[in-house]
Amino acid sequence: VGAILGAKRLKAIAVRGTGEISLADPSEFEAVAVELHEAIRKAPFYRQLSRYGTPILVSIFSHLGALPSYDWQTGVFKEADKISGETLVSKYSVKSKACFGCPIHCSHFYLVREGEYAGTMGEGPEYEALGGFGSRCGVSNMPALLYINNLCNRLGLDVIQASSSIGLAMHLWQDKILGLEDTGGLSLEWGNHQAIIELLKQMASRKGFGEILADGALKAARKIARIKGLPEEKLEYYVIHTKGYAHSNVELRGSKGIALAYGVATRGGDHLRGHATQERYASLGLYKKPEDWVMVGVPLEIAKAWYERNALDPKSPTGKALLVIYNENLFAVADALGICKFATSWQNLPFGPEYMAKLVTAATGIKYDWRKILECGERIYNVEKALQVRYGCRRTHDYVPQRFFKEPLPEGPRKGEVLKREEYDRMLDEYYEARGWTKEGIPTREKLESLRLKEVSDDLERRGIL
Ligand code: SF4
Repeated sequence: VGAILGAKRLKAIAVRGTGEISLADPSEFEAVAVELHEAIRKAPFYRQLSRYGTPILVSIFSHLGALPSYDWQTGVFKEADKISGETLVSKYSVKSKACFGCPIHCSHFYLVREGEYAGTMGEGPEYEALGGFGSRCGVSNMPALLYINNLCNRLGLDVIQASSSIGLAMHLWQDKILGLEDTGGLSLEWGNHQAIIELLKQMASRKGFGEILADGALKAARKIARIKGLPEEKLEYYVIHTKGYAHSNVELRGSKGIALAYGVATRGGDHLRGHATQERYASLGLYKKPEDWVMVGVPLEIAKAWYERNALDPKSPTGKALLVIYNENLFAVADALGICKFATSWQNLPFGPEYMAKLVTAATGIKYDWRKILECGERIYNVEKALQVRYGCRRTHDYVPQRFFKEPLPEGPRKGEVLKREEYDRMLDEYYEARGWTKEGIPTREKLESLRLKEVSDDLERRGIL
C-alpha cells in the first residue's frame, strides 16, 4: 500500500462519515461484545500480550533457540535479553497504547532518556522491528532499535522488508562479496546501527548504496550479482523470501507447519496468512488436549482433528494442512471484518469463528455459524489463489527458500534442525488435496463452483489455465 500511495504521490486518505452504523440487533451485539471482552481478559496469554505486546516474542523465540539471527545463520542471539519485550517495558515504555476500544492495548509509547539516542520517542515497536533490525542484523542496542523504528515509520518503510534488505547486505559483507568500494564507504559489520540508519535514509531517498537495496532483498541480490559479475543464482540463494516477498523474522526449521504456512501464503513469506503458531504454543506445553483450545476460540471439532492427525507436533509433517488452512480461512475473514488477528487463537486469545459468527449475525440479522464464517474465508482464499495463478504462480512458487533445506541450525536447543524436501513435498500434496486444488496448486472448477465461484473458474478457463 505504501508503494502505491508513493507512486500516486498521496500522503494519506482520510474518510469521515456522518451517518450511523445500524445493527440488526444492537442489544445482542453489545452483549456478545461484552462477553468477548471478558473472555479476552481471562485468556491465559492476555497478561503477557497486554503488558509486553509482540516484543515478548523475542524472549519466546530465544528460549526455543529459534530467534533468526545474523540473517538466518543461527537461531541463537546471545544478547536477546537486551532487545526483549521485558527490557522495552522496564526501561523505555512510558505507558501502553491501545487501538480504539481494544482491551489488549498491546502497543507502547516509549522514550529514550539518555545516551546517543536520547530524546527518541515514539509508538511500538512490534517484534518485527526488534527481531528484524536486532537479531537479524546483530544489533543489541535497544535505543538504536527504537530510533530505527521511528525512522522507518517516518520514512514509510516496512520494517520487515527494509531489515531483510539490510540483513542481506550485512551477510554479503560478512562473506566478503561486498566491500567499502560497493557501499560508498559504509562498513556493514553485524551490529553497526549507525550504518543501518544511513542505509534507511539512502533507501528512502534512492541514493547511494541504499538505491540498490530499496526495491527489496531479492531485487537487491540480483542487482549486486550483476554489478559484481556473479551468477544471479549464487546471490539469490542468500535471500529468505517466498514469491519475492522477504520473510518476517520467524524461524521455520524445526516447525514444519509454520514452514508450510510461509511457503503457501498468497502474499509471499507472510506471517499474516496461515502462520501455524498453535504448533509453537503446543510445544511450549500450553495446550494438552482438544478442549484446551476451546478457550482460545477454536471449535472443538477442529481441535480434535488436529490431535487425531498429530498436527500440533512441530517435528511431525502430518496434519499440517489442517492447521494452515484453518488459520488462512480465519485470517481471511478477520481481514474482511476488520478484526485484529492478535485477538484470535493466533496469539492465544479467544476471538474465534464462533464469536465472529455471533457478532455478524447480530450485526446483519443473517444467521451465521462458525462453519459458514470459515467458508467465507475459504471463498476469499480461493479468489486470492486464483488471482495468483492468473499471474503464473504454480507449485514451484509454494516452496520456502533453499537455505532452510540445506543449512541446519548450528547451535542451541534446535541444533541440527533442517527441513527435508520429501517431507515438504508430502505436506504440500496434503495441503493441495485438502484445499481441493490440483498438484500444481490450481483451484479446480469443482472446488470453485462448490464455493459459488463459477465466474472465477470461467475466468481461469478463458485464460487456458483450467
Ligand atoms: S487491536 Fe490489535 S494491535 Fe490494536 S491494541 Fe488491540 S491487540 Fe493491539
